[in-house]
Amino acid sequence: MHRLIEGYRMFRRTYFERHRGMFGLLAQGQAPKTMVISCCDSRVDPGLIFNTQPGEVFTLRNIANLVPPFSPDNHYHGTSAAIEFAVRTLEVEHVIVLGHARCGGVRALMGSHEGEFIGPWMNIAEAARQFVMATASDQSPEIQQRLCEHETLKISLANLRSFPWIRQRTLSGVLSLHGWYFDIEQGELQELDEVSGEFRSLL
Ligand SMILES: [Zn+2]
Repeated sequence: MHRLIEGYRMFRRTYFERHRGMFGLLAQGQAPKTMVISCCDSRVDPGLIFNTQPGEVFTLRNIANLVPPFSPDNHYHGTSAAIEFAVRTLEVEHVIVLGHARCGGVRALMGSHEGEFIGPWMNIAEAARQFVMATASDQSPEIQQRLCEHETLKISLANLRSFPWIRQRTLSGVLSLHGWYFDIEQGELQELDEVSGEFRSLL
């Protein structure tokens, strides 16, 4: 904890002091243009990767950057609630699903489902696991893992389009969806080309 308190001390002394005006304005309200849906993984920090300031990006983090299908009922839909707020209230113009290499959630999906909550949660991406088993069963675990991470990201994008107010906004051109993938080791960001289904370096 000491490390975090020291970090906070430093934040107050330097960043906060330099940006007092910005925080004053942000206290009046937020108007981010972009939502990022990323993994909880401590190695994937959207603010760091995109070099953004507070107020710029509305961020949702969950296990394996998953989006469940649209299914309004009385269950606790934390992810869908965040998406609803970003799209319908904040009216963001872009939603980026940010996948990443060596994802523990995807590893759990490919292996034995663990825990009381991770297994059922990762079931959202079960079709990705089945795709890997059907098309790459002879490949190494590393290749299968990456393929499953890519397919999981595509499922999240498809599920985003199952929300009627997202589909409607993408069709009218006021909202764009993006699939990006972060390779931790190389620091490389890749973009999904939804036509070819391939990932290419963003730069
Ligand atoms: Zn992850």
